[in-house]
Amino acid sequence: MGYRIGVDVGGTKILILLCREDGAILESRKFASKADKGPRKVMDLICRNLEEILRQQSISWEEVDGLGICVAGFYHMPTGRIISSPNMPGWEGISLTENLGPILHVPLLVENDVNAAAYGEYLFGAGRGKNNILLFTMGTGIGGGLVVNGSIFRGSAGFAGEIGHLPVLPGGPLCGCGRRGCLEALSSGAAIAREGRKLFRENRAGILHEMVKNEEDLEAPHIFKAAEQGDEGALKIIDRAAYYLGLALAAAVNLLNPDVIIAGGGMSQGGHLILTPAESYLRQAAVKPAVEEVEIVPAVLGEKAGAWGMLGLLLPTNEKMGDCL
Ligand SMILES: [Zn+2]
Repeated sequence: MGYRIGVDVGGTKILILLCREDGAILESRKFASKADKGPRKVMDLICRNLEEILRQQSISWEEVDGLGICVAGFYHMPTGRIISSPNMPGWEGISLTENLGPILHVPLLVENDVNAAAYGEYLFGAGRGKNNILLFTMGTGIGGGLVVNGSIFRGSAGFAGEIGHLPVLPGGPLCGCGRRGCLEALSSGAAIAREGRKLFRENRAGILHEMVKNEEDLEAPHIFKAAEQGDEGALKIIDRAAYYLGLALAAAVNLLNPDVIIAGGGMSQGGHLILTPAESYLRQAAVKPAVEEVEIVPAVLGEKAGAWGMLGLLLPTNEKMGDCL
């Protein structure tokens, strides 16, 4: 029987799914990526864990039909090289195929992590039965992936779907990509934390001072918590983030007319505070016929969406896959 392996490499963790031909998941393993130690270390960890999993399952590399790895960052499809990765230092110009291919002796497929997650949700998750989906993930940053007519839409080189870097406020705050006013610089977890720290400095009597002692300890979940308790300053921060998210989604809806928008990432879980107002801003800002049809739904595959997407991409036909839910 053949096997396929999906790997999701992120800034903090790596997730591996080993799947049998009949769709059964034999192993799901998560471990720290140690990305701060550079690409060599990360690739080493991937290889070591793969070897160990196969050994434990008594599977040889000859029985593995395909290995799919998705990575966080700008992945240049035509050359197979990672251009840059915001949370993984030192990956500029790295080719996973060149580095891992000769060691692993197995057909290797590489993809951007959010593209893979979008495909995973499309095949096995919240996008099942739909043809055109937009996935956005909200965490420290904001990622995006598109499935158009049942295939990942990559654009000419693999960079399509980057909703986090849609410019929504000319001259706005500096983004990790080096430009100003991107959605990510206004609505991401990092942006909400930044605004929260500003509030912390300005309002000495505020609720945030009951939560943390030092400004540096303040993260986005504190702001959400404060907003839940009715703190006006926190509510304002979240409403502003929701407004720009709604604008970016409206631009995406007008351009792409998706069937469904899937909200993923850590922040979207407790994110009714931001997603509900974002949806109403979206409905105000997008063209009516396109936005009337679209719904925003939560992602269902969680942190495994990328690895599931890679398993899906490795399949000659999708029907063979089992139901993972
Ligand atoms: Zn940007």
